[in-house]
Amino acid sequence: MKTSKSTFRKALCSVIGCRYEVSKKVTSHITEYRCKTCKCELTTTETGHLDILTPEWKEINKTLAYLYEKRRALQTVA
Ligand SMILES: [Zn+2]
Repeated sequence: MKTSKSTFRKALCSVIGCRYEVSKKVTSHITEYRCKTCKCELTTTETGHLDILTPEWKEINKTLAYLYEKRRALQTVA
């Protein structure tokens, strides 16, 4: 069953710790990570700390990525 499996994975992570991999590079200093085992997600914040990737952070990162791309495009032209 899907639910019990994810509960098991979460329990496993709480014992051995999460194994994060980069899931998305938002800007040069903001990165999103996903745990290979339990699929939980983290993000680096503008202060450089790691935080749980909530839907709010996802929205913020989406905006940041957009602004970052836009600024980079402008810099390339200039
Ligand atoms: Zn995990």
